[in-house]
Amino acid sequence: MRVSFQPALRRAARGRLSSAAQPSNFKARMSTVAAEQIVPSTHDTLAYNAERQQRADRILQDAVKATAARHDWTREEISAIFYQPLMKLAYQAATVHRRFHNPAEVQLCTLMNIKTGGCTEDCSYCAQSTRYQKGTGLEAKRVETVESVLEAARIAKENGSTRFCMGAAWRDMRGRKNSLRNIKDMVSGVRAMGMEVCVTLGMIDEEQAKELKAAGLTAYNHNVDTSREFYPSIISTRTYDERLKTLGHVRDAGINVCSGGILGLGETSEDRIGLLHTVATLPSHPESFPVNALVPIKGTPLGDRKPIEFTSMLRTIAAARIVMPATIIRIAAGRKTMAEEQQALCFMAGANAIFTGEKMLTTECNGWDEDAAMFGRWGLEPMKSFQKSAVPPPVDVESGLE
Ligand code: SF4
Repeated sequence: MRVSFQPALRRAARGRLSSAAQPSNFKARMSTVAAEQIVPSTHDTLAYNAERQQRADRILQDAVKATAARHDWTREEISAIFYQPLMKLAYQAATVHRRFHNPAEVQLCTLMNIKTGGCTEDCSYCAQSTRYQKGTGLEAKRVETVESVLEAARIAKENGSTRFCMGAAWRDMRGRKNSLRNIKDMVSGVRAMGMEVCVTLGMIDEEQAKELKAAGLTAYNHNVDTSREFYPSIISTRTYDERLKTLGHVRDAGINVCSGGILGLGETSEDRIGLLHTVATLPSHPESFPVNALVPIKGTPLGDRKPIEFTSMLRTIAAARIVMPATIIRIAAGRKTMAEEQQALCFMAGANAIFTGEKMLTTECNGWDEDAAMFGRWGLEPMKSFQKSAVPPPVDVESGLE
């Protein structure tokens, strides 16, 4: 039986090519997402593909030359950028990065779990859901005291972090008046130290967002996780639109938005494009876009997932930098498994924030000493609190040279 070449390549691009169907030539075996874009099918002519590649190049060039963020991206435009050859994409992302940010600066952020476990949601990747507690063995804890949180923030500041994030394993804040009062005290206490402060508490309404803003909150984290299409395979207890609604309340209250995704959930490249399209077409881009690599936790439904390939991580970061040029792009969960050189490539391609300290919410984190040593080796500097994007240095778009 003759194997159709084009569908096989498409599956290869998504990492689903069976060995029986594997084309033998070198280009096909590259298994790169870019290959999908340039190989003719029985219906497409070479000329058609050349024209398509030229159009993709024009979209990329226009995006790289832009001096302001745009919000009217089509999915096709993001796709044209995303599927560029990876080295070219990373280089162009680095060019954009240097126009909108000081490329030497990386924000140091420390995350604290202020209420561990016992969450009623069913996010398939999360150890804190009660539904997977039997398998994970994670014990639910009470909310941390204001004093213990402020002490943790003080230690984080002493070690060089300029942003402190607090996460609570809740579906939403309904009926949590006392907790909200304590969290507002934590927020104002951390702000009084001169740090940026972010919280992630699940869904919040307009009033709760306003109260958090009044307490001094800098940013609210609420990830959309993945594409709208793939999302229901990962979470069934709240919808994509509910997540976007919370982001709207946060934005309306004048709080910065931190919203990103998780790679390695079993999504395709198209889902990563869908994720980027969701956030890059919001009325305002999130000020912060965390890119998480799934850390599979035994006992959760995704506990046996294979780690995401680094190239997928880099491609997503680079494409995000191009479509959301002014946003801070944060390497979040999963950095512990990345080699230092891989992290450096991400910084080169536009990532400019990391979580550092003792722990992420439930997984391991690179420590301050380790990160300080890495910064020294690569000539990176910690970003100061509330620092805006650097004044654009004059960059030659063609050469990338200042
Ligand atoms: S990711 Fe958040 S909302 Fe989902 S189960 Fe975990 S703690 Fe709950």
